[in-house]
Amino acid sequence: MTAVLMDGKALAAEIKARLAQEAEMMKGVGVMPKLATILVGDDAPSKVYLAGKHRAAQEVGMALETHHLPGTSPAQDLGLLIRRLNADSSVNGILLQLPLPSHLEARAMIELISPEKDVDGLTSVNMGRLFYNQGVLVPCTPKGVMELLRHYKVPLAGSRCVIINRSPLVGRPLMHLLLAEDATVTICHSKSVDFLSLARQADVLVTAVGRRPSFTLTREMVKDGAVVIDVAMNRLHGKLVGDAEFEEVAKKASMITPVPGGVGPMTVAMLVENTLIAAALQNGLKDAGVLK
Ligand code: NAP
Repeated sequence: MTAVLMDGKALAAEIKARLAQEAEMMKGVGVMPKLATILVGDDAPSKVYLAGKHRAAQEVGMALETHHLPGTSPAQDLGLLIRRLNADSSVNGILLQLPLPSHLEARAMIELISPEKDVDGLTSVNMGRLFYNQGVLVPCTPKGVMELLRHYKVPLAGSRCVIINRSPLVGRPLMHLLLAEDATVTICHSKSVDFLSLARQADVLVTAVGRRPSFTLTREMVKDGAVVIDVAMNRLHGKLVGDAEFEEVAKKASMITPVPGGVGPMTVAMLVENTLIAAALQNGLKDAGVLK
Protein backbone atom coordinates (compact mmCIF):
# COMPACT_ATOMS: atom_id res chain seq x y z
CA MET A 1 0.00 0.00 0.00
CA THR A 2 1.20 3.51 -0.68
CA ALA A 3 -0.54 6.07 1.43
CA VAL A 4 -2.61 9.01 0.24
CA LEU A 5 -0.89 12.22 1.32
CA MET A 6 -3.10 14.32 3.60
CA ASP A 7 -2.20 17.74 2.31
CA GLY A 8 -2.61 20.13 5.23
CA LYS A 9 -0.99 22.96 3.34
CA ALA A 10 -3.56 22.86 0.54
CA LEU A 11 -6.50 22.41 2.93
CA ALA A 12 -5.27 25.27 5.13
CA ALA A 13 -5.07 27.51 2.05
CA GLU A 14 -8.69 26.65 1.17
CA ILE A 15 -9.81 27.35 4.73
CA LYS A 16 -7.95 30.67 4.86
CA ALA A 17 -9.57 31.75 1.58
CA ARG A 18 -12.99 31.06 3.15
CA LEU A 19 -11.96 32.88 6.33
CA ALA A 20 -10.82 35.90 4.31
CA GLN A 21 -14.38 36.18 2.97
CA GLU A 22 -15.72 35.87 6.51
CA ALA A 23 -13.40 38.63 7.69
CA GLU A 24 -14.54 40.78 4.78
CA MET A 25 -18.18 40.28 5.77
CA MET A 26 -17.42 41.22 9.36
CA LYS A 27 -15.68 44.38 8.21
CA GLY A 28 -18.78 45.12 6.13
CA VAL A 29 -20.83 45.31 9.33
CA GLY A 30 -18.24 47.41 11.12
CA VAL A 31 -16.31 44.68 12.96
CA MET A 32 -12.55 44.61 12.37
CA PRO A 33 -11.31 41.23 13.74
CA LYS A 34 -8.06 41.65 15.62
CA LEU A 35 -5.50 39.23 17.01
CA ALA A 36 -2.96 40.28 19.64
CA THR A 37 0.12 38.08 20.10
CA ILE A 38 2.65 38.02 22.91
CA LEU A 39 6.18 36.67 22.68
CA VAL A 40 8.34 36.62 25.80
CA GLY A 41 12.06 36.25 25.11
CA ASP A 42 13.85 35.20 21.95
CA ASP A 43 13.27 31.48 21.53
CA ALA A 44 14.16 30.96 17.86
CA PRO A 45 11.53 28.30 16.95
CA SER A 46 8.84 30.39 18.69
CA LYS A 47 9.77 33.35 16.50
CA VAL A 48 9.41 31.21 13.38
CA TYR A 49 6.01 29.79 14.46
CA LEU A 50 4.76 33.22 15.45
CA ALA A 51 5.85 34.75 12.14
CA GLY A 52 3.71 32.10 10.36
CA LYS A 53 0.71 33.00 12.54
CA HIS A 54 1.19 36.70 11.83
CA ARG A 55 1.38 36.02 8.09
CA ALA A 56 -1.83 34.01 8.18
CA ALA A 57 -3.70 36.69 10.15
CA GLN A 58 -2.62 39.31 7.63
CA GLU A 59 -3.45 37.04 4.68
CA VAL A 60 -7.10 36.88 5.76
CA GLY A 61 -7.21 40.62 6.36
CA MET A 62 -7.40 40.72 10.17
CA ALA A 63 -5.77 43.43 12.24
CA LEU A 64 -2.72 42.35 14.18
CA GLU A 65 -1.09 43.72 17.31
CA THR A 66 2.25 42.18 18.30
CA HIS A 67 3.92 42.41 21.70
CA HIS A 68 7.46 41.30 22.41
CA LEU A 69 8.58 41.32 26.05
CA PRO A 70 12.18 40.74 27.17
CA GLY A 71 12.96 37.19 28.34
CA THR A 72 13.68 38.50 31.83
CA SER A 73 10.23 40.11 32.22
CA PRO A 74 8.64 39.41 35.60
CA ALA A 75 5.25 37.69 35.77
CA GLN A 76 3.75 41.00 36.86
CA ASP A 77 4.64 42.69 33.54
CA LEU A 78 3.18 39.88 31.47
CA GLY A 79 0.10 39.83 33.71
CA LEU A 80 -0.40 43.57 33.24
CA LEU A 81 -0.17 43.24 29.47
CA ILE A 82 -2.66 40.34 29.37
CA ARG A 83 -5.10 42.29 31.59
CA ARG A 84 -4.76 45.34 29.36
CA LEU A 85 -5.51 43.26 26.24
CA ASN A 86 -8.46 41.61 28.02
CA ALA A 87 -9.90 45.06 28.67
CA ASP A 88 -9.27 46.39 25.15
CA SER A 89 -12.50 45.89 23.21
CA SER A 90 -10.70 46.27 19.86
CA VAL A 91 -8.78 43.04 20.59
CA ASN A 92 -10.75 39.84 19.89
CA GLY A 93 -8.09 37.19 20.36
CA ILE A 94 -5.00 36.91 22.57
CA LEU A 95 -2.26 34.43 21.73
CA LEU A 96 0.48 33.83 24.29
CA GLN A 97 3.29 32.05 22.43
CA LEU A 98 4.62 29.03 24.34
CA PRO A 99 6.98 27.96 25.78
CA LEU A 100 7.57 30.78 28.23
CA PRO A 101 10.96 31.38 29.87
CA SER A 102 11.35 29.00 32.82
CA HIS A 103 10.79 31.64 35.55
CA LEU A 104 7.23 32.18 34.29
CA GLU A 105 4.53 29.65 35.09
CA ALA A 106 2.71 29.06 31.81
CA ARG A 107 -0.43 27.64 33.40
CA ALA A 108 -0.90 30.67 35.66
CA MET A 109 -0.29 33.09 32.79
CA ILE A 110 -2.71 31.30 30.45
CA GLU A 111 -5.43 31.48 33.11
CA LEU A 112 -5.18 35.28 33.06
CA ILE A 113 -6.44 35.38 29.47
CA SER A 114 -10.15 36.07 29.23
CA PRO A 115 -11.77 32.78 28.04
CA GLU A 116 -13.67 34.78 25.38
CA LYS A 117 -10.33 35.89 23.88
CA ASP A 118 -8.45 32.64 24.48
CA VAL A 119 -7.98 31.70 20.81
CA ASP A 120 -5.58 28.88 21.71
CA GLY A 121 -8.37 27.32 23.77
CA LEU A 122 -6.04 26.53 26.66
CA THR A 123 -7.76 28.17 29.65
CA SER A 124 -9.54 25.88 32.11
CA VAL A 125 -12.88 27.34 31.03
CA ASN A 126 -12.37 26.43 27.39
CA MET A 127 -10.90 23.03 28.28
CA GLY A 128 -13.91 22.44 30.54
CA ARG A 129 -16.32 23.26 27.72
CA LEU A 130 -14.50 20.75 25.54
CA PHE A 131 -14.79 18.14 28.30
CA TYR A 132 -18.57 18.59 28.22
CA ASN A 133 -18.60 18.43 24.42
CA GLN A 134 -19.47 22.13 24.18
CA GLY A 135 -16.17 23.48 22.89
CA VAL A 136 -16.27 26.96 21.37
CA LEU A 137 -12.63 28.01 21.24
CA VAL A 138 -10.99 24.63 20.76
CA PRO A 139 -7.18 24.16 20.88
CA CYS A 140 -5.83 24.75 17.39
CA THR A 141 -3.71 21.66 16.76
CA PRO A 142 -6.34 19.06 17.70
CA LYS A 143 -8.97 21.10 15.89
CA GLY A 144 -6.76 21.09 12.79
CA VAL A 145 -6.32 17.31 13.07
CA MET A 146 -10.11 16.87 13.18
CA GLU A 147 -10.52 19.08 10.09
CA LEU A 148 -8.00 16.94 8.20
CA LEU A 149 -9.79 13.73 9.23
CA ARG A 150 -13.12 15.21 8.16
CA HIS A 151 -11.79 16.49 4.85
CA TYR A 152 -10.30 13.11 3.95
CA LYS A 153 -13.52 11.37 5.07
CA VAL A 154 -11.79 9.13 7.61
CA PRO A 155 -14.52 7.12 9.37
CA LEU A 156 -14.31 7.74 13.12
CA ALA A 157 -17.44 6.28 14.70
CA GLY A 158 -16.45 2.97 16.27
CA SER A 159 -12.89 3.19 14.97
CA ARG A 160 -9.88 2.64 17.20
CA CYS A 161 -7.83 5.81 17.59
CA VAL A 162 -4.50 5.78 19.40
CA ILE A 163 -2.85 9.07 20.36
CA ILE A 164 0.80 9.01 21.39
CA ASN A 165 0.81 12.16 23.54
CA ARG A 166 -1.00 13.28 26.69
CA SER A 167 -0.21 17.00 26.71
CA PRO A 168 -2.89 19.70 27.16
CA LEU A 169 -1.86 21.14 23.79
CA VAL A 170 -2.39 17.99 21.74
CA GLY A 171 -3.40 14.63 23.22
CA ARG A 172 -5.94 15.53 25.89
CA PRO A 173 -8.12 17.84 23.82
CA LEU A 174 -7.84 15.55 20.80
CA MET A 175 -9.08 12.66 22.94
CA HIS A 176 -12.30 14.61 23.66
CA LEU A 177 -12.80 15.61 20.03
CA LEU A 178 -12.41 12.01 18.87
CA LEU A 179 -14.70 10.72 21.62
CA ALA A 180 -17.31 13.22 20.49
CA GLU A 181 -17.17 11.50 17.08
CA ASP A 182 -17.76 8.12 18.76
CA ALA A 183 -14.23 6.81 18.26
CA THR A 184 -12.69 4.41 20.79
CA VAL A 185 -9.68 6.35 22.04
CA THR A 186 -6.48 5.17 23.69
CA ILE A 187 -3.79 7.55 24.90
CA CYS A 188 -0.17 6.40 25.09
CA HIS A 189 2.72 8.20 26.78
CA SER A 190 6.24 7.59 27.98
CA LYS A 191 5.11 5.22 30.75
CA SER A 192 2.74 3.14 28.61
CA VAL A 193 3.37 -0.58 28.85
CA ASP A 194 3.11 -2.74 25.73
CA PHE A 195 3.07 0.36 23.58
CA LEU A 196 3.70 -1.62 20.40
CA SER A 197 0.56 -3.76 20.63
CA LEU A 198 -1.56 -0.69 21.44
CA ALA A 199 -0.21 1.29 18.47
CA ARG A 200 -0.70 -1.66 16.12
CA GLN A 201 -4.42 -1.77 16.92
CA ALA A 202 -5.00 1.75 15.68
CA ASP A 203 -7.19 2.53 12.69
CA VAL A 204 -6.12 6.14 13.26
CA LEU A 205 -2.70 6.61 14.82
CA VAL A 206 -1.77 10.12 15.96
CA THR A 207 1.83 10.61 16.96
CA ALA A 208 3.12 13.75 18.73
CA VAL A 209 6.25 12.84 20.66
CA GLY A 210 8.94 15.08 19.14
CA ARG A 211 11.95 13.18 20.50
CA ARG A 212 13.65 11.80 17.40
CA PRO A 213 15.82 9.82 17.10
CA SER A 214 15.11 8.35 20.57
CA PHE A 215 11.45 7.88 19.56
CA THR A 216 10.74 7.04 15.92
CA LEU A 217 7.44 5.75 14.62
CA THR A 218 8.42 2.76 12.48
CA ARG A 219 6.31 0.64 10.13
CA GLU A 220 6.25 -2.18 12.72
CA MET A 221 4.14 0.08 14.94
CA VAL A 222 1.50 0.66 12.28
CA LYS A 223 -1.41 -1.56 11.29
CA ASP A 224 -1.90 -2.21 7.56
CA GLY A 225 -4.14 0.50 6.13
CA ALA A 226 -4.03 2.75 9.20
CA VAL A 227 -4.40 6.53 8.92
CA VAL A 228 -1.26 8.14 10.39
CA ILE A 229 -1.38 11.71 11.63
CA ASP A 230 2.09 13.00 12.46
CA VAL A 231 1.85 16.10 14.63
CA ALA A 232 5.47 16.19 15.77
CA MET A 233 8.17 18.57 14.68
CA ASN A 234 11.74 17.35 15.05
CA ARG A 235 15.03 18.64 13.69
CA LEU A 236 16.95 15.67 12.31
CA HIS A 237 20.20 16.19 10.38
CA GLY A 238 19.17 19.82 9.89
CA LYS A 239 15.77 18.86 8.41
CA LEU A 240 12.28 19.33 9.81
CA VAL A 241 10.70 15.89 10.20
CA GLY A 242 7.84 14.29 12.11
CA ASP A 243 7.96 11.22 14.38
CA ALA A 244 7.31 8.78 11.54
CA GLU A 245 9.89 7.15 9.31
CA PHE A 246 7.88 8.64 6.51
CA GLU A 247 8.83 6.59 3.43
CA GLU A 248 8.48 3.25 5.22
CA VAL A 249 5.31 4.08 7.16
CA ALA A 250 3.70 5.47 3.98
CA LYS A 251 4.05 2.01 2.38
CA LYS A 252 1.85 0.50 5.07
CA ALA A 253 -0.60 3.31 5.92
CA SER A 254 -3.66 4.17 3.83
CA MET A 255 -3.22 7.91 4.52
CA ILE A 256 -0.47 9.96 6.14
CA THR A 257 0.29 13.60 6.89
CA PRO A 258 3.66 14.93 5.71
CA VAL A 259 5.97 17.01 7.90
CA PRO A 260 6.18 19.82 6.98
CA GLY A 261 2.91 20.54 5.21
CA GLY A 262 0.50 18.44 7.27
CA VAL A 263 -0.75 19.41 10.71
CA GLY A 264 1.39 22.56 11.07
CA PRO A 265 -0.46 24.73 8.49
CA MET A 266 -3.80 23.45 9.82
CA THR A 267 -2.90 24.65 13.33
CA VAL A 268 -2.27 28.13 11.99
CA ALA A 269 -5.52 28.18 9.98
CA MET A 270 -7.45 27.12 13.09
CA LEU A 271 -5.94 29.99 15.08
CA VAL A 272 -7.27 32.40 12.47
CA GLU A 273 -10.67 30.68 12.56
CA ASN A 274 -10.78 30.86 16.36
CA THR A 275 -10.03 34.58 16.24
CA LEU A 276 -12.94 35.12 13.84
CA ILE A 277 -15.21 33.00 16.06
CA ALA A 278 -14.17 35.11 19.06
CA ALA A 279 -14.82 38.32 17.09
CA ALA A 280 -18.26 37.10 15.96
CA LEU A 281 -19.29 36.10 19.49
CA GLN A 282 -18.00 39.29 21.10
CA ASN A 283 -19.95 41.36 18.60
CA GLY A 284 -23.17 39.35 18.63
CA LEU A 285 -22.83 38.32 14.95
CA LYS A 286 -24.97 35.23 15.38
CA ASP A 287 -25.26 34.60 11.64
CA ALA A 288 -21.51 34.67 10.99
CA GLY A 289 -20.40 31.72 8.85
CA VAL A 290 -17.68 30.75 11.34
CA LEU A 291 -20.35 30.00 13.98
CA LYS A 292 -22.11 27.42 11.77
P1 NAP B 1 5.19 17.29 25.13
O1 NAP B 1 4.35 17.98 26.12
O2 NAP B 1 6.64 17.07 25.38
O3 NAP B 1 4.49 15.88 24.84
C1 NAP B 1 5.18 14.77 24.32
C2 NAP B 1 4.38 13.53 24.63
O4 NAP B 1 5.08 12.40 24.12
C3 NAP B 1 4.19 13.29 26.12
O5 NAP B 1 2.86 12.89 26.39
C4 NAP B 1 5.19 12.17 26.41
O6 NAP B 1 4.82 11.33 27.49
C5 NAP B 1 5.14 11.40 25.12
N1 NAP B 1 6.32 10.55 24.97
C6 NAP B 1 7.62 10.92 25.15
N2 NAP B 1 8.43 9.84 24.91
C7 NAP B 1 7.62 8.81 24.57
C8 NAP B 1 7.84 7.46 24.23
N3 NAP B 1 9.07 6.94 24.19
N4 NAP B 1 6.77 6.67 23.95
C9 NAP B 1 5.51 7.17 23.99
N5 NAP B 1 5.24 8.46 24.32
C10 NAP B 1 6.28 9.27 24.61
O7 NAP B 1 5.12 18.05 23.74
P2 NAP B 1 3.87 18.75 22.99
O8 NAP B 1 3.90 20.20 23.26
O9 NAP B 1 2.63 18.00 23.23
O10 NAP B 1 4.35 18.57 21.49
C11 NAP B 1 4.62 17.28 20.97
C12 NAP B 1 5.19 17.38 19.57
O11 NAP B 1 4.20 17.97 18.72
C13 NAP B 1 6.43 18.29 19.42
O12 NAP B 1 7.26 17.77 18.43
C14 NAP B 1 5.86 19.63 18.99
O13 NAP B 1 6.79 20.39 18.27
C15 NAP B 1 4.74 19.14 18.10
N6 NAP B 1 3.65 20.11 17.95
C16 NAP B 1 3.30 20.42 16.68
C17 NAP B 1 2.27 21.29 16.45
C18 NAP B 1 1.87 21.57 15.05
O14 NAP B 1 1.15 22.53 14.80
N7 NAP B 1 2.29 20.75 14.10
C19 NAP B 1 1.60 21.88 17.52
C20 NAP B 1 1.94 21.51 18.83
C21 NAP B 1 2.98 20.60 19.02
P3 NAP B 1 4.84 11.86 29.02
O15 NAP B 1 3.59 12.67 29.16
O16 NAP B 1 4.83 10.60 29.81
O17 NAP B 1 6.09 12.67 29.17
